[in-house]
Amino acid sequence: MILKDKIKILAESAKYDVSCSSSGSSRANSKNGIGNASIGGICHSWSEDGRCISLLKILFSNNCIFDCAYCINRRSNDIERATFTVDEMVNLTINFYKRNYIEGLFLSSGIYSNPNETMNSLYMVAKILREKYKFNGYIHLKAIPGADPLLIKKAGFYADRMSVNIELPSEKSLKILAPQKSKSSLLVPMKSLSENILDLNRFNVKNHKFVPAGQSTQLIVGASPESDYKIIKLSENLYDKFKLKRVYYSAFLKVNEDNRLPNKNSSLLREHRLYQADWLLRFYKFKAYEIFNKGNYFLDEKLDPKLFWALNNFDLFPVEINRCDFDTLIRVPGIGVKSAYKIFNMRREKSINFDDLKKINVVLKRAKYFITCNGRYMDFSLKDPDKIKQAIYLENKGNLIPLFQDNLPVISIR
Ligand code: SF4
Repeated sequence: MILKDKIKILAESAKYDVSCSSSGSSRANSKNGIGNASIGGICHSWSEDGRCISLLKILFSNNCIFDCAYCINRRSNDIERATFTVDEMVNLTINFYKRNYIEGLFLSSGIYSNPNETMNSLYMVAKILREKYKFNGYIHLKAIPGADPLLIKKAGFYADRMSVNIELPSEKSLKILAPQKSKSSLLVPMKSLSENILDLNRFNVKNHKFVPAGQSTQLIVGASPESDYKIIKLSENLYDKFKLKRVYYSAFLKVNEDNRLPNKNSSLLREHRLYQADWLLRFYKFKAYEIFNKGNYFLDEKLDPKLFWALNNFDLFPVEINRCDFDTLIRVPGIGVKSAYKIFNMRREKSINFDDLKKINVVLKRAKYFITCNGRYMDFSLKDPDKIKQAIYLENKGNLIPLFQDNLPVISIR
């Protein structure tokens, strides 16, 4: 098979993995080297459907001995198969880089012979790129479930980011849909990566960091019946226990006929709401149990999760803008982290009114139900959370609601 055909097959096969983001690495160029993964040197972009397009995103092989129900590359599918050699993969990356097609490499693989051999190929690609070609561009490698942890560790010295895709949010669903995987085959490498990231990066040795951009994972949403709460709770645990940089959510796409799978694709809006809830965990100091309290296990697709939480906890409002603490302030719908800082700074100088809030870009059409300025509401008309919810549903009919008005990094929106 000629190389061009392999590229076509293996790039196509990689498109369902969304866990690639180059943020967080600062590997600089070195003398006689090529490439630069420093924050200014990599500018990754996102295609319309939310996929990262600045990296060469490709599989080493789409031959897989596993048979995960949801995966296009599963063993039982009759599809065209291809596997690179290590040299082909290295040359491809270097040539694409030199032509300015890419800024880095996102390399995953089907498990084409056994986990160790597959992991070893990924490791060798990264090692040769770094050592022989002095490639300092961004490299994201998959850690192959079931591979020897020592091999994964060796790869970590050449990768900027690594990821183990959990895919399914419970062991029960893994057993049904990905029977060759187990919770431990996924969590053991994650745990060991997280320990090594902490241990091996204590000394600031330039260009010899271990997985400097940290690890990430991907969860498929809607292939199995787990609730949004279960998914966000799992993400919370992964952030807390393994210090993951990112959890990516991917709405289930039905690519296989299989009676273990749902009949249709999962909602992209659900995926979007999960990203927003994840944002609340990481930047707004929410806990999963708070977002989903009062018996809610699924987010309301028509409301962003912060508004959803605020309406479900209406007894905590209104908050007085001139007195409340920072953590309370950032929980108010319509007030983001940046505007909360502005409110705090302004409060040192004067008593804040609604005109002041407008000037610092607080989204008053959201915040007005939840705040007072000097004891007064902006709008007396609605104080019943159900009526507010209905008013917002009507207002947003047909639109996605922008959740955070501050210039925080853009989350994946499809
Ligand atoms: S191990 Fe990965 S590539 Fe293989 S079938 Fe499962 S999800 Fe697909």
